[in-house]
Amino acid sequence: MMNVYAARLQDWQRQGLERPHRPVQSPQGPTLSVDDRAYLAFCSNDYLGLANDPRVCAAAQKGLEQYGIGAGASALVCGYSAAQAELEAWIAHWLDLERVLLFSSGYLAHLGVIPVLVDGESAVFSDALNHASLIDGVRLARPAQLTIYPHGDWEFLEEALRRCPREQRWILTDGVFSMDGDVAPLRELERLAEQYGAWVLVDDAHGLGVLGPQGKGSLAACGVSSERVLHMATFGKAVGTAGAFVGGAAPLIDWLAQRARTHMFSTALPPLVQAATRVALECVALEEFRRTHLARLGERLDAGLQALGLKGLPSCTAIHPLILGENRRVMAVSDRLREEGLWVAAIRPPSVPEGTARLRISLSAAHSVAHIDQLLEGLEKVMGVEA
Ligand SMILES: *Cc1c(COP(=O)(O)O)cnc(C)c1O
Repeated sequence: MMNVYAARLQDWQRQGLERPHRPVQSPQGPTLSVDDRAYLAFCSNDYLGLANDPRVCAAAQKGLEQYGIGAGASALVCGYSAAQAELEAWIAHWLDLERVLLFSSGYLAHLGVIPVLVDGESAVFSDALNHASLIDGVRLARPAQLTIYPHGDWEFLEEALRRCPREQRWILTDGVFSMDGDVAPLRELERLAEQYGAWVLVDDAHGLGVLGPQGKGSLAACGVSSERVLHMATFGKAVGTAGAFVGGAAPLIDWLAQRARTHMFSTALPPLVQAATRVALECVALEEFRRTHLARLGERLDAGLQALGLKGLPSCTAIHPLILGENRRVMAVSDRLREEGLWVAAIRPPSVPEGTARLRISLSAAHSVAHIDQLLEGLEKVMGVEA
């Protein structure tokens, strides 16, 4: 019995697909300590440098004193804390949403929400590069029709909508795509929703905090505010904490609270996390200098990559992919970088399509200009390495 899995694992390893766990001994920040060695890291999603912010940590400590550690139950039993209510109200006000519902993680949000929105009679239209959590939410929902449209191709999508006989239609998309760092054509999707009576769920895990006025995300950046667009984002990235929210029209969100199974049957987040998230979001909204600095770092990185003759995908977000193609080559380059004390995530299938393995360079407002230059020097040194 065990042999089956041992053989599969071996095969996985032979293909160069194995990913090790590397126990980090330090808080998140520009340098991470692993095996008692410090690495300059470009792989975290802590885009604004808030994951170890003293004010956010102090809020968590205060939350610990008030609430203790555990939420005790799911939200509909007795795990719904005042901290959760305050956070939901704060986000609703900030983003001008009628109602907001929190989930313990973005993954759980999608697994819970999509099967409530989408039933066996519905049609779903999903961008080819959508995050795994959207894909798995659709698997649970089992819609009558599933159309996976080419990445960002709203003309293809429009044709598919025109031909769709189903009444209930949902378009699912990342706001900012996690492995490419580009932004969905949200204005066009909003128009299609209005024109074809569809609904849109936007997963803004990588847009919140980074894009738009006050870091309100890709929807605000694109000026999208239709009632037909449901706003989802996570706190584990730029906000630096944990959890996620879904926001939109009150009856819809109230229905989700009654029916989403990951809300009903999973213990609520520790209230101290929600207390910390409130303070972190205030930093996100008020501290524009973090976004200005992040943008400056991105420009320097893109210019530096170009000077080295390396083609990064153009990006106005914190995610700067450098596509190298072959799995083994990406592994060789990232291993050599690690020897140089640089930690950059090597992303391979199934996270990205075959043949597009890449370094996913992610920047943080906690990085300095000197850190970017150090990365560029490291890349210059190791790019010649053979796979
Ligand atoms: C990280 C991520 C999620 C999942 O959010 P978690 O809170 O980490 O579970 C969902 N969507 C996208 C695009 C993500 O990058």
